Amino acid sequence: MRLDQLQPICVAGEWRLGTGARYATLYPATGEAVTELHAASADDVEAAIAGAHQAFLHSGWAQRKPHERAAVLYRVAQLIREQSEELAQLQRLDNGKPIKETRALVASAAGTFQFFAAACETLEEVITPSRGDFVTMSVYEPMGVVAAITPWNSPIASEAQKMAPALAAGNAVVVKPAEITPLAALALARICDEAGVPKGLISILPGKGSVIGDLLTRHPLVKRVSFTGGTSTGKHIARIAADKMMPVSMELGGKSPTIVLDDADLDHAVAGVLYGIFSSSGESCIAGSRLFVARPLYEQFMQRLVTGARAIRIGDPADEHTLMGPLISAAHRQSVERYVDLGLSEGGQLLTGGERPSGGIFDQGYFYTPTIIAGLGNSARLCQEEVFGPVLVAMPFDDEAELLAQANDSTYALAAGIWSRDFQRAWRLGRALQAGTVWINTYKQFSISTPFGGWRDSGLGREKGRLGILQYMEQKSLYWGLNQQPIAWAPAVQE
Ligand code: NAD
Repeated sequence: MRLDQLQPICVAGEWRLGTGARYATLYPATGEAVTELHAASADDVEAAIAGAHQAFLHSGWAQRKPHERAAVLYRVAQLIREQSEELAQLQRLDNGKPIKETRALVASAAGTFQFFAAACETLEEVITPSRGDFVTMSVYEPMGVVAAITPWNSPIASEAQKMAPALAAGNAVVVKPAEITPLAALALARICDEAGVPKGLISILPGKGSVIGDLLTRHPLVKRVSFTGGTSTGKHIARIAADKMMPVSMELGGKSPTIVLDDADLDHAVAGVLYGIFSSSGESCIAGSRLFVARPLYEQFMQRLVTGARAIRIGDPADEHTLMGPLISAAHRQSVERYVDLGLSEGGQLLTGGERPSGGIFDQGYFYTPTIIAGLGNSARLCQEEVFGPVLVAMPFDDEAELLAQANDSTYALAAGIWSRDFQRAWRLGRALQAGTVWINTYKQFSISTPFGGWRDSGLGREKGRLGILQYMEQKSLYWGLNQQPIAWAPAVQE
């Protein structure tokens, strides 16, 4: 499938060609062009922000009652569901994920709009305990123009996760999707138009991060950046934000440990570890890429894991039975290969994978086999750096203290997994692991109602959860004086 038109972009509600360089987006399974578009230019950024600012001030969106804004967002959720198959196919073409996965991402995007519609209409502002002759209240105001910068690995879900709360809070939102995967964000903006989000409140500006993302971050009218992407990019944005004293939220990289204790249910643990690292071809911030297995189980567990990894069906993302599609690009596959070479040069042993499959579609797209490497210590670079591909490093461990020290020994702290039938051990470890999310006897499950984010180099702030909407609002305290007399300190002044 090829979309034959040159795709317009959305600049403060105007659908028109970008004025930046023309480029093609590629289907990672075949390397063929899906469509072409003109990237946004610096002028487009300026127009989008100016238009967003005007829409924020004059469209009346921020002044609508919460239940009225919510009604529009419920409609967005409904339209996403009505167009779900089309969106899932578009997302598949955009980033090459298997159709089963892209359907789940689309469903999650609809759920996100529904959830933040509900969060919007149920958000409470509170009367705080009074400590004087006044009533004190804590209320929330929208910020104005906010920017959302997203990566290529789960576009529609990442964009919904930022657009829905930003709009629910009453803001205008300028989205900078990854240059190579702009189609889902554009489709979401069309749906928001159709649902009745006022014109100008949304812009979608595909283009280079170092140009468009940078301009957005520096712009004085942009009051918050919500960023998902790599840690070094996140730090760069945070430095710019510091100069503007602008709040940011950062969803960054990970190198998440998965722990299999000696009392784990092995069927569950094997399935969970395989899913945790190899689903989405490992292109997932929460991929369980460091595996720690209790030594008594290690040999048996690794044998089962290797057999399982070899049985994973890789192939055409359009095929309903495909579990692993291609990697996002030729350049990214090379980067994954360099990491595998590095791990082997550090002394790792390849248990399975480490190659490009060949024949048929494999010769066209950017496929790579599920790869497991053993024999490295946790300090090896392959255990410390994010590969963002289907590469698992496995290590045995002897006791809990050593395990915890190693599992926590990472600049990242995004997620972790524990497989154990012993409730008390799992509780102890779950509380001691340093990570934004810990899964116990499950992995990589999500709920929009539960906060998500990372510690340390994995991020700042939390998305999702009822309070996720507050990321896009400023808190304000109101004091209502009740005293019948003038403030006693002031001298009495007669007319
Ligand atoms: P990236 O940091 O290269 O790009 C992310 C986004 O930032 C893109 O839109 C890009 O164009 C933009 N960007 C790049 N340079 C910029 C700059 N100087 N100023 C402003 N914006 C800029 O990341 P990627 O390669 O697209 O995505 C992979 C990374 O994202 C991985 O590290 C992964 O772990 C992380 N990620 C994190 C989460 C999470 O929720 N924690 C989720 C998905 C992906």
